[in-house]
Amino acid sequence: MLNIVLFGPPGAGKGTQSERLIGKYGLIHLSTGDIFRANIKGETELGVLAKSYMDKGQLVPDEVTINMLRSEVLNHPEAKGFIFDGFPRTNAQASALDAFLEEQKTAITVMLALEVEENELKTRLAKRAEISGRIDDANPEVIANRIHVYNNETAPVKDFYQAQNKFVSINGIGTIDEITNRLFAAINN
Ligand code: ADP
Repeated sequence: MLNIVLFGPPGAGKGTQSERLIGKYGLIHLSTGDIFRANIKGETELGVLAKSYMDKGQLVPDEVTINMLRSEVLNHPEAKGFIFDGFPRTNAQASALDAFLEEQKTAITVMLALEVEENELKTRLAKRAEISGRIDDANPEVIANRIHVYNNETAPVKDFYQAQNKFVSINGIGTIDEITNRLFAAINN
């Protein structure tokens, strides 16, 4: 199986690049943000809970997120592999994912980390807010909080994969095609 963690701060381009990778490698795309947003739209219990955190730019609690992710993986027994987009976002999530994949007799192949500097992220998120309608993209304070949470809780997840020699840094500045080609090159390496 080819199991990719696509990593990067809010606005790094994970969603856009995931589309490209799915097409090329036939992977199942699991975006925790998208799954939470679908639950919010469907007004499920999970959605109501997730919304209370997401609207403030905070992380949804680990246990809730991990349980949801597990059941999504188990829903795709035929998968050739997965792209994990927006997950794991804490070291606790990364450990839980490793343990779960081991039970499933598989593992993470690689973490591809899109690197984009903070000012560029803020510009991209403000632009996305105009088309996405996402509450968490529209408010500069919420954006700042998401970047803060990323730096404090999520960036350390890089070290988790670095320790396993699975971390690859990708320059996230350039055209969409350029960045896709960098990702393909890293996967085929
Ligand atoms: P972005 O990467 O632009 O912040 P996402 O769609 O990945 O957008 O995430 C939006 C929000 O969903 C996050 O700010 C957080 O509240 C919640 N979320 C997504 N993934 C996770 C996760 N793995 N753990 C906890 N909360 C998450």
